[in-house]
Amino acid sequence: MYQMVTRFAPSPTGYLHLGHVVNAIYVWGVARAAGGRVLLRMEDHDRIRCRPRYEAAILEDLEWLGFEPDEGLRPLVRQSDRAHVYEEALGRLRAAHHVYACDCSRKQMAGERYDGRCRDRGLRDAPGCGLRVRIEPGTERFEDLLLGTIEQTPADQCGDLLLRDRDGHWTYQFAVTVDDMLQGITHVIRGADLLASTGRQLCLARMLGRIDAPTYLHHPLILKSNGEKLSKSSADTGVRELRQGGMTAADVIGLASAATGLGK
Ligand SMILES: [Zn+2]
Repeated sequence: MYQMVTRFAPSPTGYLHLGHVVNAIYVWGVARAAGGRVLLRMEDHDRIRCRPRYEAAILEDLEWLGFEPDEGLRPLVRQSDRAHVYEEALGRLRAAHHVYACDCSRKQMAGERYDGRCRDRGLRDAPGCGLRVRIEPGTERFEDLLLGTIEQTPADQCGDLLLRDRDGHWTYQFAVTVDDMLQGITHVIRGADLLASTGRQLCLARMLGRIDAPTYLHHPLILKSNGEKLSKSSADTGVRELRQGGMTAADVIGLASAATGLGK
């Protein structure tokens, strides 16, 4: 029987804030309404910025808020434990000749789009080289559950995607696409700040052999009064700070709901 499977996937690079709470409200809310399941995944692919203390704090705050993953936490799925999974997926892309080495630094790249300058250089996959996958021109079209029909052209927006950076770290785009596919995620529910990533992830998933694309929902973000995105360090929006200030879990969830326009 078909069952919705979605995920809550925080990065342990800081503490939970109201923006995460909004995401959790959508993730658990949609899953509960549809009789679906929620998996928890620690997106700690960025080994430089992640800290075990943030992971522990995220788990504690989630429990306090009452957001409980359906498969429990043992084992806790961490991207840092899944190098073998990404290697295997990389092997599949390599076998189809989609992958090439690139030694460009971030500095060399003006803007977000990579121009493919290393495509035909025939660089060896050696330490100090990143790996990219060829993104061919084309339009990705998908139905967002909130935003309607979206069309994106990843080859124009970002060019060939980086899979592993020059330091040997798997990238967000690659790790997430592989994880969503292998964990059988049917619904990706996340903030609108990640909307631009969706076309490239759909394209990459197809190259990896995913047949049934996930359904997407990109929800509004909470913005500060000056229109900026919330940072993870804001003292007035951190779940821990709000809790220490005397708020209950229901208060925090209510605050997050109101700040994103839910319940109006
Ligand atoms: Zn390059």
